[in-house]
Amino acid sequence: MNTKGLSYKSRNENLKTLGFVSYSAYLASPLWASVRDLVTEQRGTRCVKCREPMACLHHQRYSLGDLTGDDLSHIHPICNRCHKKVEFFSDGTKARFGWVRKRFIALMASRDLPEKKKRKSPVERKACRQARAAEWRRIAEENRALLLKAVPLILDNG
Ligand SMILES: [Zn+2]
Repeated sequence: MNTKGLSYKSRNENLKTLGFVSYSAYLASPLWASVRDLVTEQRGTRCVKCREPMACLHHQRYSLGDLTGDDLSHIHPICNRCHKKVEFFSDGTKARFGWVRKRFIALMASRDLPEKKKRKSPVERKACRQARAAEWRRIAEENRALLLKAVPLILDNG
């Protein structure tokens, strides 16, 4: 079983291993309360990025050690503004786990937060296909022209 906690599925499996039926059950547990207290004792209650008062603790992953509090290095105090920036793309849609991870790392490194590529519309996709097909036709024509030029030379030399 993957216990790295790098997806919500893996997190939920780890929670099951620890005897929790859901993430909200975990968040309501004395275990989480003690992990939360340990993190804020060690790291304070200001945003790890901008030093504003924290709104919550951000998990970068949910391994068994992260959930039990054996490893506190992947849980970070974060303010509301920074957390929203990490969790939501600029168009307002919720980022999925892998994206949130990447965006948190970028935020900490003061880089632009990565955005998902916009999916092309059917019309745009068709135009791309046609442009590609035209390019292949052009290359084929070029090759044919070169070949036709070369054939008399080959025949002369033969
Ligand atoms: Zn912040």
